[in-house]
Amino acid sequence: MQNTVKSKKSITGVGLHSGKPVTLSLCPADENTGIVFIRTDIQDKNNAIPALWSAVVDTQLCTVIGNAEGLSVGTVEHLMSALRGMNIDNARLELDGPEVPVMDGSAMPFVELIEAAGVERQNVPRRMIRILKTVTVEQDGKRAVLSPSAGSIFGGEIEFSHPGIGRQSFETELLNGNFRHDIANSRTFGFLHEVEWMRSKGLALGGSLDNAIVLDQKGVMNPDGLRHEDEFIRHKLLDAIGDLYLAGAPIIGAYEGYKAGHAINNAVLRALFADETAYEIVNAYSTGTSSAGCQSALQSASAL
Ligand SMILES: [Zn+2]
Repeated sequence: MQNTVKSKKSITGVGLHSGKPVTLSLCPADENTGIVFIRTDIQDKNNAIPALWSAVVDTQLCTVIGNAEGLSVGTVEHLMSALRGMNIDNARLELDGPEVPVMDGSAMPFVELIEAAGVERQNVPRRMIRILKTVTVEQDGKRAVLSPSAGSIFGGEIEFSHPGIGRQSFETELLNGNFRHDIANSRTFGFLHEVEWMRSKGLALGGSLDNAIVLDQKGVMNPDGLRHEDEFIRHKLLDAIGDLYLAGAPIIGAYEGYKAGHAINNAVLRALFADETAYEIVNAYSTGTSSAGCQSALQSASAL
């Protein structure tokens, strides 16, 4: 069945790129609403932006979604990841600025916000997107693949020449709290020279060692080090879970990313939805996430 949150809860932080304070309010929403952002600082035009793959307008530094009025919301991926990981189908996300607050650079503050709000079960079946055939996108040595699977599985691999990262791979299934345990607290990361370049362009103004892992030539600069030895690939999967939730519903299938980022994650969704034979919409009646255990409760539904 579908889930929303029980009550409205807010947090305030800075935007990673703007450096400006922004307040995010997580609010309940009716069945079949999906995830919708509301720019409360704009009142003279349509300020709603649905969290959908087709609304993605930029993927260079983070995932940005926008509407026909030209309004946008940036850095949605960590919040979207928390909503997917915590099985929230319907929510209104009110923001008084153009960017989701970065908080600690992970999805954990949003997981805790959802937990503080409480999860409310709704009375209609959950719509899910079941992958029927493999869809692959390759760009510049990067790759993202969606393939059929009984569960909702996210796997990936990265390779960096920096010895502090090197080659890392990880896989998790969104089941039984694995998201909270394996993925949620892994932080975004960057290299000092990139941060300096972005600052010179007026970007990453809110970035600091409090909300990102930063590496210099010697290694990790953060005084407390890493939260996981392989925190980098775990964060890449956190991003992928958020980017793929812009499908508009949870995916039953396996995602595999190689050196993947926001652009290719959006491209694989566009390739999926361009081929009507590659997926089907199913209704799930169980309370759990997509798992082998709820397959018996799945039933084909009409198109999205
Ligand atoms: Zn990220």
